[in-house]
Amino acid sequence: MSFVTGPHASGQQRYTHWDRARLSVVVPIGVIVAVAIVCIVVAVLSSAQRADEVAIDHENQLLSGALANYGTRVLREIDSVASSQSATQNIRRKFDPLWADERAGVWLAAYFKHDYILVFDGQDNPVYSLIGHHAADKAWFAKARPELIELLDFMRGRSTTMPGAIRLGQSVPAETGARNNAVALRSILGQPAAVATVAVASDAGLSPAADIAAPIMLSVKFINADVLASIATQLGLVNLRAIDDDAVPPGDFVYRLTAPNGERIAHFAWTPKQPGAEIVQSVVPFIAVALAGFALLAAFVLRYMRRTAVAIVAGETRLRYLAMHDPLCGLPNRIFFGERLEAVIDEVHSSKSPAAVLYIDLDHFKDVNDTLGHPVGDELIRNVTLRLSSTLRGGDLVARLGGDEFAVISAIGNDTTKTMVLAQRIITAICAPYNIGGQNIVIGASIGIALIDRDSGGAADIMRYADMALYRAKNEGRNRACVYDAAMDADLSKRKLLEGDLRQAIEEGQLRLMYQPIVNKSGDTMMGVEALCRWNHPTRGEISPVEFIAIAEHSGLIVELGAWVLRQALIDGKAWPSLTVAVNVSPLQFRRADFAELVERTLHETGFDPSRLELELTETVLLGNIDTAEAGMLRLKALGVRLALDDFGTGYSSLLYLRRFPFDKLKIDRSFVLSIEKAADAAAIVHAVVSLGRGLGMKVTAEGVETADQHLFLRAAGVHFMQGYRFGKATTPAEISARLRAPADYLPHDVPAAIAG
Ligand code: C2E
Ligand code: CA
Ligand code: CA
Repeated sequence: MSFVTGPHASGQQRYTHWDRARLSVVVPIGVIVAVAIVCIVVAVLSSAQRADEVAIDHENQLLSGALANYGTRVLREIDSVASSQSATQNIRRKFDPLWADERAGVWLAAYFKHDYILVFDGQDNPVYSLIGHHAADKAWFAKARPELIELLDFMRGRSTTMPGAIRLGQSVPAETGARNNAVALRSILGQPAAVATVAVASDAGLSPAADIAAPIMLSVKFINADVLASIATQLGLVNLRAIDDDAVPPGDFVYRLTAPNGERIAHFAWTPKQPGAEIVQSVVPFIAVALAGFALLAAFVLRYMRRTAVAIVAGETRLRYLAMHDPLCGLPNRIFFGERLEAVIDEVHSSKSPAAVLYIDLDHFKDVNDTLGHPVGDELIRNVTLRLSSTLRGGDLVARLGGDEFAVISAIGNDTTKTMVLAQRIITAICAPYNIGGQNIVIGASIGIALIDRDSGGAADIMRYADMALYRAKNEGRNRACVYDAAMDADLSKRKLLEGDLRQAIEEGQLRLMYQPIVNKSGDTMMGVEALCRWNHPTRGEISPVEFIAIAEHSGLIVELGAWVLRQALIDGKAWPSLTVAVNVSPLQFRRADFAELVERTLHETGFDPSRLELELTETVLLGNIDTAEAGMLRLKALGVRLALDDFGTGYSSLLYLRRFPFDKLKIDRSFVLSIEKAADAAAIVHAVVSLGRGLGMKVTAEGVETADQHLFLRAAGVHFMQGYRFGKATTPAEISARLRAPADYLPHDVPAAIAG
């Protein structure tokens, strides 16, 4: 199980979210661009097609114009012969076959390349013919006649149309319906040709049309490959040719020359000019450039969007990081921790392995902050962070919850022993001295532990449990860890009640002081007393100072309580001029800036000799800013008061650094005395401690001496003073006075010879 990942993972989702946002912009842009491109392409293609159509249309018209020209030219050429005076003379009036051959037939054939020249008399009988270089034979004429007769019928006015031919030019008919001339395109013996007819005028001044017996000259000129070639050259038509079948060669255009009756005259094909292709070709580069431009633009927009998205995601991630982390030390903050805790509780509930929350509170951090300033405090927090991080395993989450509070979520499971080992490791790490900006700083740490298992409640419950365990840890002397148990809940409510009661007890004077004798090393002479506070609760009876002093410290009542104890002890102590009076001072009292003043004032007001007052401090007062602690002690020393280090051996102070502090006395803790008879090395330690104290020029008192053997050992070890049940429990001032009057009554009964001597 790893606790440190969670809140960062959502960055990934943000990316896909942005991808979607990007799509929603890019897709419409892409569609618009695509539609625009398609429109442009369609416009270009359709205008190209239109251009092709227009071009074909034009070529079509040119061709049909050229063909019409061709026909009318044939008419003009034959007319130049037929309408002449000599034609009237030699054809009409008296047919002269020589003239017809020389001046009409051969002339037209030779100069104008007419293919057939025929002359018909008034009854439509051919009187002259030139087909190539010969006169037409009967068989030829029989074949050609049906095709030629149509023109003759039209000329004579027998018919007003020519269903088998395309008529060219306009000749106005006379009243008889006959015409002067006619010209048409039609098929002659399967070949397309221009056929022109002209009536040879009479010299009677009669219009030849009115003259139904007028001879008619007819000329045929084929539209052959040469003709097409010259038309093609003139018009610039590519590959113009006549085709036989209907199959249109791909890419070519076919011009169909069809008679009104639907008969095919000729099919011409050519390869039309295709300006469309040119248009397309000329436009393609522009479109390509435009497309490339669009692509570039799209790429640019995309890149810009991606960059913006990345920047926004980075910004969001940064903001989220800032919102989730402590700006000072970079650890996850309370919010992050809360989220992770909820998640871990959920995981544990869904049958994962149990976890633990360690709620860490630094002791005396505030003191460092107040006396050395915030920069040093900040640096201290960073140092603590480093030590915490290096103490924990990778999977554990450590967070700073605020001021001097940290918390760890550890996957260590619900093994209490392991958790306690971890907690102890953390405490050891935090309690090692710091050197910040040349200042030596020692702080402590208390840890409350709440285990998370499948039956645990929510995050709020877990934190409440850890808090209660932390309270217990502090009460048990700090620099330790406590694991929450259900009894603490009851403790908490009891404590709340007691707190109110204690306030009342202080106000109403329900507290008393008892005095425990402190004797010389032989145990026969009382050298001093230690004032110990007693509270006889109206309903609960005697309550141990261990319990109510902790409540007083936690609630701040200790200041008032301590002031009362000091005053009362000095008042009582005035009755025993030969004794030293020892008064316990809570670290909370000692830390107050006005403490030395209070002591001075109380000494003054009670008239107590300062040299008989001994203030008992614990190692805890040394925590935090060592310099302030030292200054405070020096101020007290300046009053003439003596200082004792209480409960020595229970703390974590390096023995050597004690040298720095002006203690007059060391009080070896009862737990050491107890262990003397049990462990050989404990005895050695006591020896060492006593000699160290002596070496530093301090007097040494042993606390909790109960047996003769302990007494014997401690005395041999060099202890100066003894305190313990063996020499008397704490008792009333009256009894102390009585004891002073009759010391012999209070001697231990079993004084071994070694001591008595
Ligand atoms: P302490 O200062 O270490 O006081 C000595 C404690 O050891 C006293 O407990 C005393 O009764 C007990 N004691 C002495 N000789 C023996 C012995 O031979 N055997 C055993 N088992 N115990 C012995 P007490 O009176 O219960 O006080 C407990 C603690 O409460 C004190 O420990 C002191 O830290 C605190 N305390 C008591 N009165 C005051 C006070 O007026 N002000 C402050 N700040 N703390 C106080
Ligand atoms: Ca004490
Ligand atoms: Ca003590």
